Amino acid sequence: MKVYTKKELNDHYLSLTYDDISLIPTEISQIKSRTESSTSCSFLGLNLSLPIISSPMDSVTGIEMAKTLSSLGCLGIVNRFDSSLDKVLSNPANGNAVKVVSVALNASDNLLQKIAEHGFMVCIDTANANNQEVLNKTKEIKKSFGLKVIVGNIAHGAGLQQLEEAGADAVRVGIGGGSVCTTSIQTGIGIGQVSSLLNVLFARDKHKLKIRIIADGGIKNSGDVSKALALGSDAVMLGRMLAGTRETPGEVIKYSGQLWKKYRGSASFGVKMRNEFIEGEETMIGYKGIVKNVIDSISDGLRSSMSYMNCKNLAEFQKTEAFAVLSNSSYLERLPKM
Ligand code: IMP
Repeated sequence: MKVYTKKELNDHYLSLTYDDISLIPTEISQIKSRTESSTSCSFLGLNLSLPIISSPMDSVTGIEMAKTLSSLGCLGIVNRFDSSLDKVLSNPANGNAVKVVSVALNASDNLLQKIAEHGFMVCIDTANANNQEVLNKTKEIKKSFGLKVIVGNIAHGAGLQQLEEAGADAVRVGIGGGSVCTTSIQTGIGIGQVSSLLNVLFARDKHKLKIRIIADGGIKNSGDVSKALALGSDAVMLGRMLAGTRETPGEVIKYSGQLWKKYRGSASFGVKMRNEFIEGEETMIGYKGIVKNVIDSISDGLRSSMSYMNCKNLAEFQKTEAFAVLSNSSYLERLPKM
């Protein structure tokens, strides 16, 4: 059996995604219980108990989700379509409600000024960060407002240095992997999430950059969260895993005797409401109850993975160098049979 290092995965495989790889415990673990493994970390100056970030999608993160995630030691990025954002930003008492808000590329100085006054960070929410306009906007936000800036998305490390030089503090990595994303089908753009992450992480090492890496899209369960962090990502962004929880914006819908909530892509027709090119789908997710339950199960799964891998903290876990590449049948063997 071959146990692969990250470099070998990056060098030998054309396009891998989470289902193609697995972590292999090769050391005798000294950890007695998963509670001994700590998932806390510092991310852009924030102390997180778990490096989970909710996606700035209109069916995932509004003010309530951001507040709840903050109280759970995670991070929510309020979506740029949220109409209550103005209210939050015009009331200083809400200063601690959200720490990061997403903005469109054409965000006004007025909005950015308010965000700066609240001491928030900003996420420039675009489909392609490898774009001159994103570089210009990042430079402008840094120069005029001094905000911490998250940009996205990229699928390859080629433009990483330029993004850091423009002032980006973190970047969302992943194009085409989101569960309601039709970008790859519509445009032919994108690559498997694992290969994308490895390429960007190696580019960061090569150029000795500091930019933080957020694995974004295609995460289906706590096992995928563990894989993304073991590959070296600093944080993981979730859409679908958090969709359908009580704290997401939108109503609970009763249909066919079951409870559901809507989940839709930021570039879906439902968001754009215009007859133009769309790159996202819209679907219903079974109602999941409170988001704390989802976060707790991710935390348990990640800690358990860390204890298998003999890692007491995330810094150790991110240095994992023991991966298997799965055949289709070994992937299927790993799934529970009912
Ligand atoms: P998920 O966790 O697999 O559902 O992926 C969520 C990610 O999909 C988001 O954080 C975005 O990067 C991406 N995404 C959201 N909306 C769209 C869309 O309409 N088209 C393409 N990608 C999208």
